[in-house]
Amino acid sequence: MTNDDKFKINFTNKECIDILEAFYWGTKKICPYCNSENHSLRIIKNREINIYHCNNCNTDYTVLVNTIFQNTKLPLTKWFETILLTTQSTKKISARLLAHKICVTKDTALRLIKNVENFDAKEEFIQILEERTKKERIINDQKTRKTN
Ligand SMILES: [Zn+2]
Repeated sequence: MTNDDKFKINFTNKECIDILEAFYWGTKKICPYCNSENHSLRIIKNREINIYHCNNCNTDYTVLVNTIFQNTKLPLTKWFETILLTTQSTKKISARLLAHKICVTKDTALRLIKNVENFDAKEEFIQILEERTKKERIINDQKTRKTN
């Protein structure tokens, strides 16, 4: 593994959502509009994100409501990689470099950097991300060792 791979996240979008749900909600799914826990899961085929219906205020919501990830069209892995890249390097990463590393345009990279700067639970979230990526890496290492 090169130093450059450290920020790489190989989760599926679904796994990213699971991580965010655990991070923001723990085991309780809470409506962002009325704080009720009374919900049903909307089953929508081929959707990678869980949509919940609040039985109290009759509104649909996902874990992304009221977070920096709300309404994003980018894969969540790119957000997660931005969070890792902007916090792990000692020098502030430029939009140009970020754009190159995670394969987005410079404008998108600028927007990502600005949004991630406003992510108030960053430290906590990074810990979770690092634990997950470490675990993943160990599993992958074991897999490659077995097949070799
Ligand atoms: Zn509600």
